Amino acid sequence: LLDVRNLVKTFGSGEAETRVLRGLNLAMQTGELAALLGPSGSGKSTLLTILGTLMHPTSGSHSMLGVDLTAASDRALTEFRNLHIGFVFQFHNLLPDFTALENVCFPTAVREGRETTTARLRGQELLVRMGLAERIHFPTANLSGGQKQRVAVARALMNSPELVLADEPTGNLDRASALQVMDLIGEINREEGTTFLISTHDEKIAAQCRRQIVVGDGLVTG
Ligand code: ATP
Ligand code: MG
Repeated sequence: LLDVRNLVKTFGSGEAETRVLRGLNLAMQTGELAALLGPSGSGKSTLLTILGTLMHPTSGSHSMLGVDLTAASDRALTEFRNLHIGFVFQFHNLLPDFTALENVCFPTAVREGRETTTARLRGQELLVRMGLAERIHFPTANLSGGQKQRVAVARALMNSPELVLADEPTGNLDRASALQVMDLIGEINREEGTTFLISTHDEKIAAQCRRQIVVGDGLVTG
């Protein structure tokens, strides 16, 4: 599904230069459920941002679904990202005054310039699968942290992406809500074959994944 080779990312220049990724290699197959582990500052978020085509690496190659993204234009990357990649962040970034369903449908509606019935149905189905049938028309401001994060997962799945990148999706949740979010992610992974890469500091959360990828010193170390 994806392949990055010799990925280098440096920030700043001269004496202020930080070399965050130092020639990192990583391949993932379709259908994997993988945790991304490593100390704070090891480059997990940087890697996810590059894999999500939201930032260019300094050097190295990046391909996904057989498409070489290394030299792709920003416009081509945006199109690729919209079609194939979903994101979940630690801070869910939901619009508080809008309902769960509106939040899930909003990105698609903006992209397509209109809200379609197909999108509404897909949004409803996903919210039901996330255990939020009773909360579909609640403003997200009135939802608990775990419920909000489940809305964010539903939003990430809206376009049936092949790959979902999640940066500490359970970082703000208590253990029970975190495990519930992971259970639902596992279910989507099994039933739809969606590939997940999930950064976390929590060993118990990582243990819910079939593969553990450890980064350290800018490389994959395990
Ligand atoms: P955490 O577990 O704390 O989230 P992380 O593994 O996600 O850490 P990154 O956020 O990828 O780590 O950061 C890796 C290093 O890159 C850090 O030293 C950070 O200061 C640096 N860094 C990240 N983004 C930038 C930036 N835009 N400009 C300069 N330095 C940056
Ligand atoms: Mg991070």
